[in-house]
Amino acid sequence: MKVLVVGSGGREHAIVRALARSPQSPQLLCAPGNPGIAADATLVDVAVTDTDGLVAAAQDHDVDLVVVGPEVPLVAGLVDALAAVGRRAFGPIAAAARMEGSKEYAKEVMEAAGVPTASWTAVDDVETGLAAITGYPTVLKFDGLAAGKGVVIAPDEAAAREALEAFLVERRYGDGRVVVEEFLVGEELSLLALCDGERAVALAPAQDYKRIFDGDEGPNTGGMGSYSPVAGVDGALVQRIVREIHQPVIDELARRGTPFHGVLYAGLMLTAAGPKVIEFNARFGDPETQAVLPRLRSDLLEHLLRAVEPGGLDGIALDWDDGWAVTLVLASAGYPEAPRTGDPITGLDEAAATGVEITHAGTRAVDGAIVTAGGRVLNVTALGSDAAAARSAAYAAADRITFEGKQQRSDIALRAVERSQHP
Ligand code: AMP
Repeated sequence: MKVLVVGSGGREHAIVRALARSPQSPQLLCAPGNPGIAADATLVDVAVTDTDGLVAAAQDHDVDLVVVGPEVPLVAGLVDALAAVGRRAFGPIAAAARMEGSKEYAKEVMEAAGVPTASWTAVDDVETGLAAITGYPTVLKFDGLAAGKGVVIAPDEAAAREALEAFLVERRYGDGRVVVEEFLVGEELSLLALCDGERAVALAPAQDYKRIFDGDEGPNTGGMGSYSPVAGVDGALVQRIVREIHQPVIDELARRGTPFHGVLYAGLMLTAAGPKVIEFNARFGDPETQAVLPRLRSDLLEHLLRAVEPGGLDGIALDWDDGWAVTLVLASAGYPEAPRTGDPITGLDEAAATGVEITHAGTRAVDGAIVTAGGRVLNVTALGSDAAAARSAAYAAADRITFEGKQQRSDIALRAVERSQHP
């Protein structure tokens, strides 16, 4: 069994590691990968945006399964292109990946499927946008892909005007409308589900931290840390969310002739009126995946192969470790606005020797040394029998890794530890 993982971040590294634990002992390839992934898979030098090159690589290496990590190739139709040459791929076709590619499309599907979400209006000019706002704070979302940066929470009219102008006049992320959305209050939860076109099966719940600084201050990032499971989110709540949110979306997309295979990721707000959707993603989350997959005891490869077949997940049972996982993101100086690159990294072996899982995101090998090469540089995931044990093991290991200007939040999973001590 040969598997090609597409991507080069911490998420793809975690997927490669989880596939390497499969009893099927697959031969693993990764395009384009990074220096950390190179230790676990054979790298193929093709960019995630090069659809033709990836299809050619899948053909040349005669792979049995392609696992697509990031959203960009999904929205660009990589899974469709692979299907056209008869290659199996885990991930949605472009028409289904629109659940992530267009906020407006996702809202329209949710409305048709009766899925609870913030009330919204889509606009294409600043004045209509301002008129659609019913109170502050308000949420303004660019309609297309913007690498997690197309969302602004505006506290007042001046901030709302500035955001609308950036999206609609300056066209900071290109052409696209803006969704003006009600601000939801509550706790956030990420619930990812494996989908086989007909049904959704939840993965373990996780929580992530989007802001750069402690206490959820500062600008949004791709994610600064995560942990799994989540206190208070029991099996009954997970089942309710799948029933009220994931499954109706899967049914609606099947009805539209665009069945969803892959991971449907629901970003949720647990409001006083019940769980409501903030956003959908069409792939594994980063950094949630780094905390979730190390807890999976059953065979990820078998699960992914089943999800490719219509109805293939029927009767599946996922087996999870009862312990906790905490993932810390180590980010470069200047992230998220202007990440600095080229800073040498030390302490990787010492940190790994403590038994944690270190996944690479933005790293590069230069003359045998590993240097920073992106915003999010490394992830450190520790497992523990409780939240406190996992958290302290993750921090102890991360403290051994140094590079100039390293940014790391100090409060990842603190909430989980406090809750378990004072339930
Ligand atoms: P998104 O990229 O849609 O997940 O948005 C990024 C972050 O903005 C989310 O993780 C939330 O913290 C926040 N956010 C997005 N939509 C809303 C909303 N309707 N109400 C409150 N916060 C929101």
